[in-house]
Amino acid sequence: MSKPLLPGSVVNGQPATLGVMGGGQLGRMFVHAAQAMGYFTAVLDPDVASPAGLVSHHHIQTDYLDEQGLAQLMQRCAAITTEFENVPAPALVTLGAHRPVAPSADAVAIAQDRAAEKAHFVNCGVPVAPHAVTAKPEQLAAVNDDLLPGILKTARMGYDGKGQIRVKTRAELVAAWDQLKNVPCVLEKMLPLKAECSVIVARGADGQMVNFPVQSNLHREGILAVTSVHEGAVPADLAAQAVAATRAIAEGIHYVGVLCVEFFILEGGQLVVNEMAPRPHNSGHYTMNACDQSQFELQVRTLAGLPLTQPRQHSPAIMLNLLGDLWPEGASPAWAQVLALPGTHLHLYGKLSARPGRKMGHLNITGATPEAVRATALQAAALLGIEAF
Ligand code: ATP
Ligand code: MG
Repeated sequence: MSKPLLPGSVVNGQPATLGVMGGGQLGRMFVHAAQAMGYFTAVLDPDVASPAGLVSHHHIQTDYLDEQGLAQLMQRCAAITTEFENVPAPALVTLGAHRPVAPSADAVAIAQDRAAEKAHFVNCGVPVAPHAVTAKPEQLAAVNDDLLPGILKTARMGYDGKGQIRVKTRAELVAAWDQLKNVPCVLEKMLPLKAECSVIVARGADGQMVNFPVQSNLHREGILAVTSVHEGAVPADLAAQAVAATRAIAEGIHYVGVLCVEFFILEGGQLVVNEMAPRPHNSGHYTMNACDQSQFELQVRTLAGLPLTQPRQHSPAIMLNLLGDLWPEGASPAWAQVLALPGTHLHLYGKLSARPGRKMGHLNITGATPEAVRATALQAAALLGIEAF
């Protein structure tokens, strides 16, 4: 976009409107940020009760590839973004032919494919886990024994640890590939992880780039459980490496929008890149309460072509993910007790039914010191039935 789409302006007789493909919680928080700045919003998602559709000015309820739906989105919106990486790339190509789309279909296509993604990381000089692409039986038979024990991951459509099977032996590998319906996969060597971290950057169409501090992430059963962001959460040298790597990864594809890169920190202290998400990320939700700009505000700015300024974290923070497992049958978690704790900020996504593993919301905890934040976060976790960390 050459000229910014100014908040609150009128374009061709319509209020300046930003669109998003996908109506999940990330879309909802994007919509909230866009509306706070004065934009109108449109969401395309087939689900009548999608979290973002429920709060948007416009909700187009069609399939992602529906021509009429896409045409309606373009008619409404001056620029369009996406909130999940599995939006079909052809839909973004169609939209991109007529409207600014950020991130681009090309960038999303790389992030949609673990094999292409890893090749891009290697091109950027960032170490990846030893791995092999297994799209055909011959490739599966030819994998090196060094990759076992490993994790077989579908090349496409995986999230929250879905589409992944841990394998110890060749026999297990063959069985796992069958279980994954023989779709193209990547076999990754199981690495000894000491910790995990992630970095979120925002890059404008003019190449300007800003980043949030490095996030320390705890996963449980393949799903993010806790993110901690404060002094000492990630050793300074590794944090600097992770930021530099993320910037190189974004620069290398002329990325426009918000990008998250996830890393492993190995027992030996080495940093290895895991994967990237071409959108705001669960590990960046703390920014809503602990930084002077949230990751969603930066997504709005990159999409509208507005200036970016380096975000500043003003409070140490911990984020607890709230999964459906925490909902007692027919009742609510102990919100009143949790919100009685200082510096707790509740975000729920408007999902009416709680299922195990379903992301229902998150709780941000901010405070004056990392110790105070941690003490409060552990109290909140105990009240909610989240295992201590
Ligand atoms: P999401 O997109 O929700 O982040 P995903 O389904 O794409 O998740 P990954 O990030 O590939 O899954 O893996 C989920 C988790 O499994 C990682 O965060 C890590 O804890 C563990 N894991 C994945 N790959 C490896 C590996 N090679 N060695 C050790 N642990 C791993
Ligand atoms: Mg991941």
